[in-house]
Amino acid sequence: MTALSAYNFQSTEFTPSGFGVTVPGPVADEPIEAAEVERLLNKGKSSLRLPEPLENAFIADAGPQRLRTMVISGVLVAFVFNWLLVSDWLLIPDQFDQALRLRLFLFTPAVIVGVFLLPRWSSPATREWFVLIPGVGAAAINAWLIVSSNDPFASTYLVSLATIAMYTNSVVRMRFVPAAVLDALIMSIFIAAAVHLPAEQARVLIPGGLLLACTITFTLYGCYCQERDDRLNWLLHLRERLLLKDLEDANQELHDASRSDILTEVANRRHFDEHLAEVWERVKRDGGEVALMMIDVDHFKAYNDRYGHPVGDACLKAVATALKRRLREPGDLIARYGGEEFIAVLAGTSLQTARGAAERIRRGIEGLNLLHATSSTHAVVTVSIGVATLTPADEGATTTRLISAADEALYQAKQGGRNRVVALGWDE
Ligand code: GH3
Ligand code: MG
Ligand code: MG
Repeated sequence: MTALSAYNFQSTEFTPSGFGVTVPGPVADEPIEAAEVERLLNKGKSSLRLPEPLENAFIADAGPQRLRTMVISGVLVAFVFNWLLVSDWLLIPDQFDQALRLRLFLFTPAVIVGVFLLPRWSSPATREWFVLIPGVGAAAINAWLIVSSNDPFASTYLVSLATIAMYTNSVVRMRFVPAAVLDALIMSIFIAAAVHLPAEQARVLIPGGLLLACTITFTLYGCYCQERDDRLNWLLHLRERLLLKDLEDANQELHDASRSDILTEVANRRHFDEHLAEVWERVKRDGGEVALMMIDVDHFKAYNDRYGHPVGDACLKAVATALKRRLREPGDLIARYGGEEFIAVLAGTSLQTARGAAERIRRGIEGLNLLHATSSTHAVVTVSIGVATLTPADEGATTTRLISAADEALYQAKQGGRNRVVALGWDE
């Protein structure tokens, strides 16, 4: 395969794979250039932003998985954050009533409402930024309770801010940029709280601040790696799908090509044989007749001699197109039988109906008015048609006999002066 084609996600269903990474799905509405995917993968380095429209596709594809993670971790934090009430009671007992109100009656219900609204009010791209609200809220509650407390151990409690950074970076697994912004805000809240605490607390606040900085650095790096790997895996899966799609398309093209005639683009002999066998079996089972039309262009040798082979080819194409247009019933098939001969299969059609259809076809070709100056019978291109029907369920009826009957009818049409239809049953 020389180049990968463009690919529109909307037309294809993908099933999630078991790799635990985002798998391309039918969500992006812009076509994806496979060459661009290949270029990015060959570059070797993966960045945290893909060029459009890949970025949109990545965000949209990752959306459902990200939402699931956020909802689960949101529910988790709504309850687990209240465990800190035990620490509040032990470390800042003078603020316990306020802690109870802020945690149980403000933070918990606010997070539950947020989790409920998240899928309704936010797009996959903005969702990541929504986590900043509970993150900053939780850090602010803790800091406020600590600075409001007169307990001499209160300042030690500021390290609890590290838990919030750990939660947003490792449990929610926020995208790197919003996570970095949130961590900067948490650090700012720590510093703001620290300056409000008595100066003699510095012995506790400096190591506390360092602990928070370490936690932020480590987990933020984890966030970066996670997002980088997510994007790389997504690209690899995307390439796999694109290759598969190209392969499927090529297969389909090959399959179609193996069943159609190159010049006239109607079915070829192989397709005709398969189709007739199929129709024959079906009609044999369901009852009825199968009709065949053998259609031969009159005086075509003379046409070629007069106008040349390329014009002869164009004439055959025009005849084939006209034949195709006039056979519209589902189950009817027109095929090039060989040279300037075509054959049509009409499933479940009586001899009389098939004769009528053949007559319409004959008139249609004559009506094309393709000049044939050297025809010994007519001034324009015409066809002779032999029609035959057989009932597959009848004793001794075979497709070979049906073809012979149509051939015989065609012979009679030629003998009768050409540009005519002759219809024969097997017994006639
Ligand atoms: P009749 O009315 O008895 O059918 O006479 P005819 O000249 O049509 O029949 P004949 O079998 O003598 O000649 C068929 C001609 O069809 C000969 C051949 O050159 C031409 N032919 C067959 N296939 C092609 C093709 O693919 N392109 C062109 N241009 N001519 C073709
Ligand atoms: Mg002919
Ligand atoms: Mg012929």
